[in-house]
Amino acid sequence: MTASARKIIHVDCDAFYASVEMRDHPEWRDIALAIGGRPETRGVIATCNYLARQYGIHSAMASATALRLCPQLLIVRPDMARYRAASQQIHAIYQAFTERIEPLSLDEAYLDVSGVTLCQGSATRMATAIRTRIREEVGITASAGIAPNKFLAKVASDWNKPDGQFVVRPQDVAAFVAALPVARFFGVGKVTAARLKALGIHHGADLAAADPLLLTQEFGRFGERLHQLAHGIDKREVEPERDRKSVSVEETYARDLPDLAACRAELPELLAQLKSRISRAGEPPLRALVVKVKFADFSQTTVEHAASTLMLDAFGRLLETGYARGQGRAVRLLGLGVRLGNSDARQLEFEWEED
Ligand SMILES: [Mg+2]
Repeated sequence: MTASARKIIHVDCDAFYASVEMRDHPEWRDIALAIGGRPETRGVIATCNYLARQYGIHSAMASATALRLCPQLLIVRPDMARYRAASQQIHAIYQAFTERIEPLSLDEAYLDVSGVTLCQGSATRMATAIRTRIREEVGITASAGIAPNKFLAKVASDWNKPDGQFVVRPQDVAAFVAALPVARFFGVGKVTAARLKALGIHHGADLAAADPLLLTQEFGRFGERLHQLAHGIDKREVEPERDRKSVSVEETYARDLPDLAACRAELPELLAQLKSRISRAGEPPLRALVVKVKFADFSQTTVEHAASTLMLDAFGRLLETGYARGQGRAVRLLGLGVRLGNSDARQLEFEWEED
């Protein structure tokens, strides 16, 4: 099957944790609500409802800051068990449409519905049907993007959020990508966006017209990839969990972590997130543990070690090695990952998951 013939749906629930809480607590539906940690323990906001967003509150913001912006904000602790239950219900709905499902988190997934004959084979109608069932059976809303590849499906799910969907048809890909701001491109963060703008590259059309050699000089292999994306090309497959080669989590910190002790203090939380992600992948056998450290100057390093069990101590030792490579630099991001399965694919670059 050619890449242009694929039909990919990206489904993304709206303000997921907050929506589940509002479903279960009707008295919270019309107030500013956030799910997160307590301000007095330096907690951060995980998710907030749309009313809270009107005050400028967003995920990863310190709870103390959120309360300053909106003093009447109600912050409740996350109840992961209920979110997981909702996630499983949603997953069962996906399975009625396709087996090719790649979850990105509890509330987000790619579905490859190429060749599926339901809804007269229309991916747009399938997305509508999936969203209707999520609303009726789970009691929350979801948005969807429909496109010939993962990159565009994910961008599109954000287009009519919340409770909406957007389709990028194969014949519309070129125009859609041309008008897309570079910050929307897969893998482009603030720093890369700023560097692209400094080169006079603001939209997909500029990227597509840019000299591929220049992009490679500036950004290495990622430059090549950007050039492909700008031409609407993204060959990444929707990878069902059973085929996964790795699982990872990472966190960018609002304030850089100044030393090794501060980094170590973050490990238990990251490990808890990693464990829940591995359990969602069906507890596959582990082959190696991986730690990523990104420093304040954006340089980064990865350390890995063969292991078949998840041990905090082992991650701690890898962190120590990685941290030492920074020669005392502060740390802006930490990642923990595992390689899965028994096949020997160690030479492959470890692919970190995006959040
Ligand atoms: Mg979401």
